Amino acid sequence: MSPAAKIRIEDILNRVERYLPEMDEALLRQAYVFAANRHQGQVRRSGEAYLVHPLSVAWILAEMELDEIAIAAGLLHDILEDTDTTQEEMEIEFGPAVTRVVVALTKISSYESSYSSREATEAENFRRLLFASTDDVRVILVKLADRLHNMRTLKYLDHERQVAIARETLEIYAPIANRLGIGSIKTELEDLCFRALHPREVQRLERAIEERAQVAEKWFAEIKGVLEGILTEHGLSGEIQGRVKHLYSIWQKLRRQGVDVESVFDFLAFRIVVDTVAECYATLGLIHQKWPPVPGRIKDFIAIPKPNAYRSLHTTVIGPEGHPFEIQIRTRDMHTIAEHGIAAHWSYKEQGSRPAEDSRMAWLSSLLDTTQGSSPREFLDSLRVDLYPDEVYCFTPRGDVFSFPRGATVLDFAYRVHTEVGHRCVGATVNGRWVPLRTQLKNGDIVQISTSPQQSPHHDWLGVAATGRTRSKIRAWLKREEKSRAIDVGRKLLERELRRSGWSMKRLADSDELGGILTSHGLAKLEDLLAAVGFGRMAAAVVTEQLTPTAETLEEPALPATDRRPAPGAETPVLEVTGDSDFLVYVAKCCNPLPGEEIVGYVTRGKGVAVHSRSCPNVQRLLYHPEREIEVRWAASAMEGRVGRSRVDLDMKYQDRSGLLAAVSHAISSEGSNILSCSLQTHDGGAGTVAMSIEVRDAAHLNRIVQKLEAVDGMLHVERRGFVTRAVP
Ligand code: MN
Repeated sequence: MSPAAKIRIEDILNRVERYLPEMDEALLRQAYVFAANRHQGQVRRSGEAYLVHPLSVAWILAEMELDEIAIAAGLLHDILEDTDTTQEEMEIEFGPAVTRVVVALTKISSYESSYSSREATEAENFRRLLFASTDDVRVILVKLADRLHNMRTLKYLDHERQVAIARETLEIYAPIANRLGIGSIKTELEDLCFRALHPREVQRLERAIEERAQVAEKWFAEIKGVLEGILTEHGLSGEIQGRVKHLYSIWQKLRRQGVDVESVFDFLAFRIVVDTVAECYATLGLIHQKWPPVPGRIKDFIAIPKPNAYRSLHTTVIGPEGHPFEIQIRTRDMHTIAEHGIAAHWSYKEQGSRPAEDSRMAWLSSLLDTTQGSSPREFLDSLRVDLYPDEVYCFTPRGDVFSFPRGATVLDFAYRVHTEVGHRCVGATVNGRWVPLRTQLKNGDIVQISTSPQQSPHHDWLGVAATGRTRSKIRAWLKREEKSRAIDVGRKLLERELRRSGWSMKRLADSDELGGILTSHGLAKLEDLLAAVGFGRMAAAVVTEQLTPTAETLEEPALPATDRRPAPGAETPVLEVTGDSDFLVYVAKCCNPLPGEEIVGYVTRGKGVAVHSRSCPNVQRLLYHPEREIEVRWAASAMEGRVGRSRVDLDMKYQDRSGLLAAVSHAISSEGSNILSCSLQTHDGGAGTVAMSIEVRDAAHLNRIVQKLEAVDGMLHVERRGFVTRAVP
């Protein structure tokens, strides 16, 4: 019967009689008449008589094959809340069992509540309802049926109410139906919520499915034929269902993979229902012989049932033309349990069995136990934690709750609190214990983030963050920061260049020529020009050439660089900043690191990144500002010796000895190096010093030269100027 059809009491009685031939028909008729009388004159938002609602709820319960108490309670569930019927009256009419269920479903008004806020009162009502459910599972089953019918008729409410109810249903009622194993209600609730919350996405998905309906039909017939053939050939009988998966699950899957509907197998799936467990496994084996399974996608929920008692075999196989598709294999009993869950077990057959002993209810009992005495809000938070096993819920010390995907770290938490908190985060305490940023969050953790105004995001935070949301915030910061540093660098370079040609930054900014320069480089504003120069994408001289194309300036020879290295931003870069940065880098004069040497980058104020040797004494001091350290590496061109030689200053100490200088000069030339300058001093007592500048290719080259110099007879010390002294053994 379609949900929209009008339910009559006769339909319900007929339906119940089919699975419960000895039902108490009188009780159901009496409940119906009573409800009809008491709701007389009440009208739903849809304009229908109110009675349609309790009848529909009773029908849903009959579809779940529940007993007369549950169905009578369904017919009467709004009597205490919406009419002036009293509890005593109900007990006289229907006895204690039905009354208890209806009382549990009746909300106390905020004026009876011990809490002042509406929100807290609602949470408290909900806790009472769940508590009653652990004694009598019919309470939550009637509630789910009630919510299902309300969701089916949601469109009659105003938009705001629709969204609020759909959200609550998706967050709490659908997951509860799932925990109780009631697949039929869970999927219908999810789809109804999806429609209310994302109407456009629903439309898009439906259109995509509709467009592929013919192809889907063809595939379905073809695959069904193959499956039937396999079963018949091996003497198995099974029912093969091809089905369109429910919309919400398709949408979640596509969103998880970040794709859109491509093939029919994105929404088509197969289910085979056989007679025995042995046949389930046999069928699985036969299918895998026909189509290869996708590794890691075979799930045996028969050997290891889900916590909600769901059992089935799942596999994904590579089907015709390489399209993967899903097949579920189960017995008829397993199918009933998958659809009706706890309702299938807790039914007229097993009346009196304690629901708390059922694993599907046990989690709820223990949750209610552990949250005893907590506030309604804490209770709802804990409930959410239990309802979503794939998510991690953590708390701020103030009790605010945030949800994260499993694997999220303390850094993700910091960024969730606030973007600024993330940027300044130095660490955190979790449950009172100090932990580093990469610590993974666990359910129920209480996280307190520590911040420092000196802190700022690092490149390696990108590896610490587990959520895309955090990573994009870090990336945005790094980009912004790099740009502002580049602008400073560009400003310095351009100012110097401008001064040489008699210009100034101010004059440039005010000049008519600026617009033309910007346009010719495809830039929008002066800031972009400075950034382009700072990032080394453009030479500052290009700007001045465009400003003053006079013969005088053109003929003026370029000043020789004091440094023999290629200028920053020149065509063959020697150094690169690790990561996606295109920062301006230069080697620090204090230590002149050589290609191959261990190096470290330091972001200066306004000059780009200075690259020091890791053993440069200045580095230790500079790195008191660790936030300004940046990872750098030698460019491949430098490592292959494709860039020019570097100048290295050496200081040597020696014992007075004739012929020393000749020996030193021989050591250097034998390694293919040149002496650029040399000054020698002999002191009283015979000892002397040599200060010498030589040319080297890279660190290895220098090492060989130093070794040769150290081997010169009479040499006491060889030291690279500015570096830690090394004594000659
Ligand atoms: Mn209701």
